[in-house]
Amino acid sequence: MSSAQAATSEPRRYQLFIDGKFVDAESGKTFQTPNPATGETLAEVAEADKADIDKAVAAARRAFEGKWAKVSARERGRMLYKLAQLIESNAKQLAELETADNGKPIRESLYIDVPATAENFEYFAGWATKIEGETIPVPGQFFNYTLREPVGVCGQIIPWNFPLLMAAWKLAPALAAGNTVVLKPAEQTPTTALELAKLIQEAGFPDGVVNVVPGYGETAGAALASHAGIDKIAFTGSTEVGKTIARAAADNLTKVSLELGGKAPNIVFADADIDQAVNGAMMGIFYNQGQVCCAGSRLFLDERVKDEFLDRFKAKAEKIKVGDPMDKQTLMGPQVSAEQLDRIKSYVTIAREEGATVLTGGGAPAALDEKFRRGYFFTPTIFSDVQNRMRVAQEEIFGPVTSVITFKDEDDLIRQANETIYGLSAGIWTRDVRRAHRFAREIKAGTVWINTFNMMNAASPFGGYKQSGYGREMGRHALEMYTQVKSVWVDLSGKPIGWYGQ
Ligand code: ADP
Repeated sequence: MSSAQAATSEPRRYQLFIDGKFVDAESGKTFQTPNPATGETLAEVAEADKADIDKAVAAARRAFEGKWAKVSARERGRMLYKLAQLIESNAKQLAELETADNGKPIRESLYIDVPATAENFEYFAGWATKIEGETIPVPGQFFNYTLREPVGVCGQIIPWNFPLLMAAWKLAPALAAGNTVVLKPAEQTPTTALELAKLIQEAGFPDGVVNVVPGYGETAGAALASHAGIDKIAFTGSTEVGKTIARAAADNLTKVSLELGGKAPNIVFADADIDQAVNGAMMGIFYNQGQVCCAGSRLFLDERVKDEFLDRFKAKAEKIKVGDPMDKQTLMGPQVSAEQLDRIKSYVTIAREEGATVLTGGGAPAALDEKFRRGYFFTPTIFSDVQNRMRVAQEEIFGPVTSVITFKDEDDLIRQANETIYGLSAGIWTRDVRRAHRFAREIKAGTVWINTFNMMNAASPFGGYKQSGYGREMGRHALEMYTQVKSVWVDLSGKPIGWYGQ
């Protein structure tokens, strides 16, 4: 892949990656993935469905029971480490392709997505040799110990908002623990996962350990989630599809982990550093065009600072440079697809019908270059006068749209902040240390940010309370999802068991 190629309008071609080879789909079908900034076709990609999923699962099973089982933990760690290095040495090309496929600004792909992808592989490379069992002090003349073993063949279905990084969150712990994988990238953004497959091959992973099968959710995704030949399914995406996946997995009692939607409260108290809080609100909702499951999409403002805060927030939101995602100055690119853009627009109508005020944004940016007129751009948008029970405060919009809700005191706030089906993340801005930590205990969410927002690291667990899912990704916690525990009992006495020797 050359960086010049990523920028040209000549569509690339990609095949499925199964059993260490790039192959066409059994059906011969392909689909196109557009560049969301221009609407032009970026790539033509082989389209997996059930027959290809069957092949990929069989390859993953053979690898799990064959070559991969013989690879030592140290070797697995070295391969993961090498993969991290290969990602770093291909950073520019990967970032450009990520931006061309997803629309996110190049400064994000280059300085956040790709480095974080490498970081995740590097972090889990270190874990491969540190997955251990325990000895248990059971009564009597017995030796009892546990083995922590890989789960087996893992199906992994990922979304389009951080295509490479989501692949890393899923693949890295699974491989560190000795599993094999069938990974289905999102149909909107399949290309970088297939470039990653090339690097996986180069890093020395045996054939079939990782298989990448792009295709649609209702066909390839559904075939994977309901497959009797997989031992675990891991999914990141919408809560609605998460429920479908859990139902599909139930028939085979396949183990499931889900990282789903959110409607995070981002809370500003009157004693906060307002400048920092405004920056945090911007980061909370405009980063990655608001297409972030932990986005701060409910902005709670203390009544006493509401006017001052909104003046500054609105002014800064209106200054955001929306446009060419390949331009390093751009802060917001297009939304990922025409469907997402339509969905976001529909919430502007809903907000007005519900009695909210569109304080700024709510449409297409003015004065885009001719080249980007068919792109899926949307302006940074603030709804004010929102009540927490309104749809715009309860439903995940997944765009650069925040709903401003005011509160009077801490009790009133906690009640409202927890009044949601979601529980992925929350932020609070205050100088009062006691209040900050009280809040961290009382909020029902998997991540709490105090005077910061959207911070993540490969070593720190991430996942949801309530309908935001179950299981934790990253950190040592992720290994729990990709290992299972076996308890082994050994008799040390040589005596008969119970009464049967009498
Ligand atoms: P979004 O709504 O943000 O596009 P989705 O939750 O629909 O996100 O998609 C996330 C991932 O789930 C994608 O890879 C998509 O192809 C897949 N997917 C969608 N529907 C299904 C389904 N019924 N079964 C399995 N996977 C699905």
